[in-house]
Amino acid sequence: MVGIIVDQMRYDYLYRYWEDMGENGIKRLVREGHVVHDGHYQYVPTFTAPGHASVYTGTGPALHGIIGNDWYSRQEKKSVYCAGDPDANTVGSSSAEGKMSPHRLRATTIADQLELATNRRSKTIGIAIKDRGGILPVGQLADGAYWFDKTEGRFITSDFYREALPGWIDQFNSRELPRQYLEQTWTTLLPMERYDESLPDDRSFERPYYGIEKAVFPYDLKKLVESRKEGDAPFGLLPATPFGNTYTTEFAKAAIVGEQMGQDAITDLLAVSYSSTDYVGHQFGPHSVEIQDTYLRLDREIEDLLNFLDEKVGLKNTLIFLTADHAGADVPGYIPNAAGYFKSGSFQEGLRKHLKDKYKTDPIAYYINQQIYFTRPWVADPQRLASDVRAFAANFAGVHSIVSLRDLAECNVMPGICDKIIKGYMPDRSGDLYVLLYPGWLPDYTEKGGTTHGSPYSYDTHVPIIFYGWGVAPGNNYSKVWIEDIAPTVCQLLKISLPSGCSGSPVVEVFEK
Ligand SMILES: [Zn+2]
Repeated sequence: MVGIIVDQMRYDYLYRYWEDMGENGIKRLVREGHVVHDGHYQYVPTFTAPGHASVYTGTGPALHGIIGNDWYSRQEKKSVYCAGDPDANTVGSSSAEGKMSPHRLRATTIADQLELATNRRSKTIGIAIKDRGGILPVGQLADGAYWFDKTEGRFITSDFYREALPGWIDQFNSRELPRQYLEQTWTTLLPMERYDESLPDDRSFERPYYGIEKAVFPYDLKKLVESRKEGDAPFGLLPATPFGNTYTTEFAKAAIVGEQMGQDAITDLLAVSYSSTDYVGHQFGPHSVEIQDTYLRLDREIEDLLNFLDEKVGLKNTLIFLTADHAGADVPGYIPNAAGYFKSGSFQEGLRKHLKDKYKTDPIAYYINQQIYFTRPWVADPQRLASDVRAFAANFAGVHSIVSLRDLAECNVMPGICDKIIKGYMPDRSGDLYVLLYPGWLPDYTEKGGTTHGSPYSYDTHVPIIFYGWGVAPGNNYSKVWIEDIAPTVCQLLKISLPSGCSGSPVVEVFEK
């Protein structure tokens, strides 16, 4: 079984770039697979870590506990990272980038259940450029999770999984592919006139790479690496180019061979996450030539991976799903009136001042993920504090409502939105109030260019969900499917127990009659 998550992939990309895709990559999955056309995230915030955890646990942050990439820990009185683990050590390099583990994940994953079902005889491996993209999908019992070390330019892991890298990874790392990728110039895969699904290359609202003025092709990567910002990791540019995905594909192929996956009667799981689409999306936005080129190249990578699987395992013996960890917003700068930039810095500053004037002390311990964490013990009655925040926010551009996370029964925005907020809330990790913005409003750091995600709105929740291969009935599915439905569907196909917190339902149309 192979799970593919494409970081920040919007549903519309499947069709927007259709005419420029190859015949045997994404098109093969769409034509021969079971395509869910209205697949959505069921919670907020729609970020990478909750997304990866939700796909593989079959539930949302309210039960698996990954409420953001980072959140505020009241116990530690600081922000903590979803996969960060001070007790873990890097394996495979001398940097600190391997101090990671899934210790904050509170539910089991498909991989955990597969390990339990087979008495640990399955091979379960998670891989991604991003550590959280490799770790969270496979969870606690996996044989391994591997991610990219930007300092040394190699795949690494942590001693949570093992004491040394397996030989096939040492061998893979010795090929020094990142060095080769970063000596290239990134030009468009097809002639520029073929990119008429995107805005012209030279547009505002794209954020150029550090050290250059304009976000236009061609990109001399070698020069960009040489002139990188002081203190930036030597291989830090790779994830933000399509070649991060190329590298991931090469590593996935090496893992299939190195771990002898799919070679016996026991089901194995390879969880691949393509991270570079997200970095490029943030940098240039969904209407850029850069993101189109990244997807056209990814389409070729997926074709390469499918062909490889066909040769080594046989596609008819392989259950594949493809989805995304969240989608991404259209760039507000291109959409007058129905979008805007929310000045998060001045919101926080103004709010703190407003409350401090009133209470003679700052009652806000932290602000993150559009959530306000009040200090404990409470400076004042929680309801009074909330109404003071509402009074301040009423005049602030972009704010729709201030929702009390502790009294969600009283949530009085649209039921669908309240539902998403409830499904993203975990009592001991989430904040006290949630700042809901209007549709199309993004935090103002994106004003420099590019886009982001995180909201409960369709541009962030609507993602492709495709099932393909072993046991899958091909077809088009126009019903609403939630992301938490993927895991129970896959577990039913494999005839194994559901992950511990699973709250989705199987997509029964996927099953062969
Ligand atoms: Zn992401």
